[in-house]
Amino acid sequence: MSSADYPAVPLFIDGAWTPARSGKTLTVVNPATGEALGTLAHAGTEDLDQALAAAERGFAVWRKVSAHDRAKVMRKAATLIRERADSIARLMTLEQGKPLAEAKGELLFAGDIIEWFAEEARRTYGRVIPARAEGVTQLVVKEPVGVVAAFTPWNFPVNQAVRKISAGVAAGCAVILKGPEETPASCAELVRVYQDAGLPPGVVQLVFGVPAEISEYLIPHPTVKKISFTGSTVVGKHLTALAGAHMKRVTMELGGHAPVIVFEDADIAAAARILAANKFRNAGQVCISPTRFLVQESVYEDFVGRFVDFARAVKVGDGLQPGTTMGPLANPRRVTAMEGFVQDAVQKGAELRTGGKRIGNKGNFFEPTVLTGVTREMRVMNEEPFGPLALMMPFHGFDDAVAEANRLPFGLASYAYTRSVKTASAIAAAVESGMMSINHHGLALPEVPFGGIKDSGYGSEGGSEAIEAYLNTKFITQAEA
Ligand code: NAD
Repeated sequence: MSSADYPAVPLFIDGAWTPARSGKTLTVVNPATGEALGTLAHAGTEDLDQALAAAERGFAVWRKVSAHDRAKVMRKAATLIRERADSIARLMTLEQGKPLAEAKGELLFAGDIIEWFAEEARRTYGRVIPARAEGVTQLVVKEPVGVVAAFTPWNFPVNQAVRKISAGVAAGCAVILKGPEETPASCAELVRVYQDAGLPPGVVQLVFGVPAEISEYLIPHPTVKKISFTGSTVVGKHLTALAGAHMKRVTMELGGHAPVIVFEDADIAAAARILAANKFRNAGQVCISPTRFLVQESVYEDFVGRFVDFARAVKVGDGLQPGTTMGPLANPRRVTAMEGFVQDAVQKGAELRTGGKRIGNKGNFFEPTVLTGVTREMRVMNEEPFGPLALMMPFHGFDDAVAEANRLPFGLASYAYTRSVKTASAIAAAVESGMMSINHHGLALPEVPFGGIKDSGYGSEGGSEAIEAYLNTKFITQAEA
């Protein structure tokens, strides 16, 4: 598949692929070349009204399908996405830039996510609460919340969308997904997989357009009962306020600035290897990307030296080229942001141990970058870099590391490396974050909770908590007549 095979991406409403009523389109650009790849339909309010009406009808049908039968459709979707992984991965690399192996991994993982939610929704048990009076039965039952408006970004075009669609659909909801305008084709293929698996019309709709216009229209709309958003903290707060004004439930998966705490008793070689691989995955455009590397003084130089060697070995290039281990950044905004962060840090005294510049003048390539001598006054130590920047800072004792880890308002992922069980338990308890991974990179599996605290958001996108977010609790008490 080449750029020439990139499809024109339509909207998906009421079980049919359709252009925007207005005929308006947006352009999709290949981040490795800067060239136009294709177009996508740009939804206006007429399209959104159709999507809302279709979702109402879809919900009325789907809520009556048993979890057992919903799981059958979803298992078929999981099989289809695995079968189509190679071709969808190429589309993803063309539009997003990540290496083909990472794109394929994302699709196979999407199969696991679909399957897990399908199975888990069959276990959305209610309960019977013993009554005070004879002849009274007290029941707690779970019901789907209804029509969901979901908003997903471009860094994982399928993974971000598949979590929301699958948790919602498994719970019996209908979903209107505003997909990522920069990477629409692979996300559309995810929706096609659900269509081909036999999902009834109206259960999932896919729209694209101007994000703010779509969210301002959908969130207050009475048809929509729940909002799920993945993206930046600033947008998440805005959408949460809008949802609050209309008393809509929210799940917010927002930015992070993950601290990594490497203690002197850790396996330093393993820590550097695992962390470098995860820092430069998806060119660092990952909300759980390890970012602030807090390393105990006695092992600081050893760790930094090893990490820099890994950074220098990263092969940056077009994701379609065999051997590429890091692709371009997804859009020119990220390159400008990286340049700004590096310039500010160096001006304030940081040392560039490797990287720091864009590569070439075509596409959005940026060098894997390691900065030492960073201080809290630098912008990059306070704002999420969302790119291939690793920030190294030595620490003296446990409390110093904890104080720096908890300094920022973010609280998504955190990491620690130590051979001491005691230190591991203490650091897990002390760091304010929604997730902590110790001595390995173990986050984001379908069956485990995924989400943040503080400014990183609210709610979970994994584990049984993720299904719960799409269910209302109803209490029924009945006395014998
Ligand atoms: P951005 O804030 O413009 O957009 C981030 C996402 O939010 C995009 O998907 C966009 O379509 C959507 N969005 C923006 N305004 C919206 C609105 N009013 N209503 C609904 N959706 C809206 O930033 P960007 O330049 O695309 O990305 C940069 C920043 O976004 C990063 O620094 C990072 O903090 C954050 N981000 C986070 C994730 C994540 O996985 N949590 C993913 C992508 C981007």
